[in-house]
Amino acid sequence: MVSRFNRGNPRRSNRPRFYTRRKVCMFCVEKVSSIDYKDISKIRRYISERARIEPRRKTGACSKHQRAVTLAIKRARHLALLPFVPLQSQSEREVYA
Ligand SMILES: [Zn+2]
Repeated sequence: MVSRFNRGNPRRSNRPRFYTRRKVCMFCVEKVSSIDYKDISKIRRYISERARIEPRRKTGACSKHQRAVTLAIKRARHLALLPFVPLQSQSEREVYA
């Protein structure tokens, strides 16, 4: 019997698909007004293994700071401080072939 609570899609549960915890924006905590594109150690955390900018649901950054991070990453990429594409290794090439 299908209960009236999940009659639409019985396979869909109430649990979120991604592990999300109530995160606070790191930059808001540190009261950072502008993000330095030269500060790679800080920006690094907002880039995935595949050299992509992490989405907000992962970083927990607020929209204001997420935009600032994105801008900083793009500037850093332009100056070759950060990669556009991940470094290719032999093992990686096999995995993502
Ligand atoms: Zn913020």
